[in-house]
Amino acid sequence: MPLYDFHCEACGHEAELLFPISACPESMPCEECQGGTLRKVISLGRASVLREEAPWLRDVLTVVDKDSNAPHVRQFLQDPTRGNYKAWLQGEGLRPVESGERQGRPTVDRARLREAGKRRFFEQCRSGRI
Ligand SMILES: [Zn+2]
Repeated sequence: MPLYDFHCEACGHEAELLFPISACPESMPCEECQGGTLRKVISLGRASVLREEAPWLRDVLTVVDKDSNAPHVRQFLQDPTRGNYKAWLQGEGLRPVESGERQGRPTVDRARLREAGKRRFFEQCRSGRI
């Protein structure tokens, strides 16, 4: 049985729960705060479903800080749409490549994403989280 991540928006509680693929609920009452709702968080495994529709979103999801409780991050992880992607970029202080800079589909400014990831890594090292 796969392990699913759940997150409560009300209290920030995170839970990892085992469910059969065919029987995993999208949400359930939060056992921590009793009033909130635990919602299933999209995992990288599930993100592969996005490949056909928006392959670049999958690249973005691999650099998103999954431990972050920032609303723009949770929202994007739960519902990786283009709209939430833009909100996430803004929240992270990044920007998408302007149209005209590169032809075709929307692209991520990979160099800046890598830099942001590195910075976060060093911050976590300093704060002893790694
Ligand atoms: Zn809760």
